[in-house]
Amino acid sequence: MSPMLSDRVAVITGASSGNGRAIARRFAKEGADIVIADIQEEPREGGEPTHELIDSETDANATYVDCDVSSQSDLEEAVDAAEEFGGVDVMVNNAGIFHGDEFLEVDKETYDRMMDINVKGTYFGAQAAAKRMVESDGGSIINLSSVAGLEGSADFVTYCGTKGAVRLLTYAMAANLGPEGIRVNVIHPGLIETMMTTEDVEIMGTEAEEGFVQGIPSRRAGQPEDVADAALYLASDLSGYVNGESLVVDGGMTNTQ
Ligand code: NAP
Repeated sequence: MSPMLSDRVAVITGASSGNGRAIARRFAKEGADIVIADIQEEPREGGEPTHELIDSETDANATYVDCDVSSQSDLEEAVDAAEEFGGVDVMVNNAGIFHGDEFLEVDKETYDRMMDINVKGTYFGAQAAAKRMVESDGGSIINLSSVAGLEGSADFVTYCGTKGAVRLLTYAMAANLGPEGIRVNVIHPGLIETMMTTEDVEIMGTEAEEGFVQGIPSRRAGQPEDVADAALYLASDLSGYVNGESLVVDGGMTNTQ
């Protein structure tokens, strides 16, 4: 079988760690050249930087670019870096932050930071890539929301707001960019084992994990590779007629009781 993403170039934000790292490795194994756009090169979970790992385990090209997604110019530079490989075909707006909050105590600075990374980063990441894609053969933009972008949660009011926004931005972008040959879709992961759920909000490896898992019909937490497989589908021609769609990757958690 020929590789699913041969001759494609992907820019993936937050790809030094977690879901973004798994997406980058999966895409590279399917032949895509990759720009890793992150604020730090070292993976949060340890190990070789993603671009070095891709160099050693695939024939694909990979490069790292310092990119804070809350900066529009950083995002434009990340998309420009893809020119070295032929220009961006696939943009994955994956970088995000997650923490709980006590709604009555959230201050403007905390709110703004999460909005800047999760929402503004997605908005201008998509815009930077789309500017290039409309001048070429179109492309695929994949945004990372969450199950928290589908349902409200008392302890995560700000995060739910950001991820709900990412969902609706995706649908509106699909409406706007579809005629230009650009598909825009969104992934809603459930509980995925990354540093986000082992450290930022401690669920994995704690007593809370078992409670969560009992609410998941597949009876396990997801792995970054589960998210990467969904992203591969949305990046590839297999999803050629899928546009403005939400793909929920949660082991059945959201649609069941
Ligand atoms: P992760 O392991 O923390 O990885 C996120 C990566 O993004 C890190 O390398 C992080 O760098 C980077 N990053 C943070 N702020 C950034 C910024 N301003 N600019 C560029 N890069 C930045 O998290 P993850 O679990 O892979 O999450 C990836 C995406 O999946 C997020 O959008 C998240 O909301 C979504 N998601 C995750 C889960 C889950 O259960 N894990 C569930 C639903 C949705 P630093 O280490 O330096 O911060």
